[in-house]
Amino acid sequence: MTNTGTGGATTRYPAHTWRNWAGNVSARPSRVFSPASVEELAEAVRAAAADGLRVKAVGTGHSFTSAAATDGLLIRPELLTGIREIDRKAGTVTVAAGTPLRRLNEALAREGLSLTNMGDIMDQTVAGATSTGTHGTGRDSASTAAQIRALELVTADGSVLTCSPSENPEIFASARVGLGALGIITAVTFAVEPLFLLRAREEPMSFDRVTADFDGLVAENEHFEFYWFPHTGNCNTKRNNRSAGPAAPAGTVSGWIEDELLSNGLFQVACSVGRAVPRVIPSIARISSRALSARTYTDIPYKVFTTPRRVRFVEMEYALPREVAVDALREVKAMIERSPLRVSFPVEVRTAPADDIPLSTASGRETAYIAVHLYRGTPYRSYFTAVERIMTAHGGRPHWGKVHTRDAAYLAGVYPRFEEFTAVRDRLDPERLFGNPYLRRVVGG
Ligand SMILES: Cc1cc2nc3c(=O)[nH]c(=O)nc-3n(C[C@H](O)[C@H](O)[C@H](O)COP(=O)(O)OP(=O)(O)OC[C@H]3O[C@@H](n4cnc5c(N)ncnc54)[C@H](O)[C@@H]3O)c2cc1C
Repeated sequence: MTNTGTGGATTRYPAHTWRNWAGNVSARPSRVFSPASVEELAEAVRAAAADGLRVKAVGTGHSFTSAAATDGLLIRPELLTGIREIDRKAGTVTVAAGTPLRRLNEALAREGLSLTNMGDIMDQTVAGATSTGTHGTGRDSASTAAQIRALELVTADGSVLTCSPSENPEIFASARVGLGALGIITAVTFAVEPLFLLRAREEPMSFDRVTADFDGLVAENEHFEFYWFPHTGNCNTKRNNRSAGPAAPAGTVSGWIEDELLSNGLFQVACSVGRAVPRVIPSIARISSRALSARTYTDIPYKVFTTPRRVRFVEMEYALPREVAVDALREVKAMIERSPLRVSFPVEVRTAPADDIPLSTASGRETAYIAVHLYRGTPYRSYFTAVERIMTAHGGRPHWGKVHTRDAAYLAGVYPRFEEFTAVRDRLDPERLFGNPYLRRVVGG
């Protein structure tokens, strides 16, 4: 480690290999830096530009794509964390960009506040999660990025820019799902609301019933999702709705059995066995899909929305127009049944309302998501390619942080506001300081 002596602003480390959470992406940045302030970050961006290096910020590396990979300067988030301000009157919280969602959720809960909706886990950073359009499931409430009210970022010339619906509105529109292409986000202001309770109802259901009733289940619940277990006709459904209380958290023992033993410990064993002996996967799927039982519990939002995910996997997820999702899922089921594929991970289906963010996967259309996963180390190409063929035939949009093979030509066709994003990028980063091979592929050089 060397320090250039400018107030600690440019601590440098020898090149080392960076890897993402799933282990399917690695990179060797020539410089790694953890800024402790916005000024340090801006100075590091200017120094990298002067040295001819490209710049990329990374969160916690939970993307399965090479969105965060760079051979230039890698900005790490660890020291840019914490709550900057809570504005109760405006109903907002401003948080440093590297703050993990877990820390944000816990801090908000202590203040009697919460985000409205969130994804499955809370290990990601706020900037990393929003930059790829991370979402949960919702009938009326949308992705984490859709809950942003203002952003602060360091742009390619090393200046600090703030944007909101009233300040630099065209930048704000695009930067909420910015793919790391428009600048390094330093702070995010989210809408928050008074802490509320959610009642979760988990219930096994047959594939035929859940697909026949899908529209009704989505319409009747604030947050509906389900998992289908390939090689079986079994699904597990989850309905989360606001509750007047009282709180009734998942019992310590039953919660541990469902969340730790079945979803992590035993599942890990089942996945390892399945990877070694793929032909036993259908039998394991039948047993494990029947092991899950119905349960209800009532708790604060992040304890209901998120669960620990300790079994490492690789994932692809597509956003589809809501009305074609059931047909697409049936096609995936038929494809698996007639193929030699053995799939150990459930297929997850979630929804989102249309939003107004140019590169949000739910931009301008009511959306349903279909996500496929495979245990880390299992060859995933043939499964994902077959699923991707079905998704793209339905005008699907891939999650920016999950495995896919789409390029800018395809994506421009499924995002009506694609050029709005590239115009903002041309204006903010004409030299592509924040470019990398992933961005070249998905939004162009
Ligand atoms: C176990 C697991 C569960 C998941 N669950 C969900 C889920 O429920 N819903 C969902 O939609 N997705 C989910 N994901 C995907 C994940 O939320 C996204 O890939 C997310 O982008 C990861 O956030 P991160 O902090 O790890 O960012 P990284 O993966 O490190 O980076 C993602 C992108 O953000 C950019 N970025 C990071 N920090 C900044 C910054 N400060 N300024 C500008 N750009 C920045 C990076 O350059 C990169 O382009 C899951 C992933 C895993 C591994």
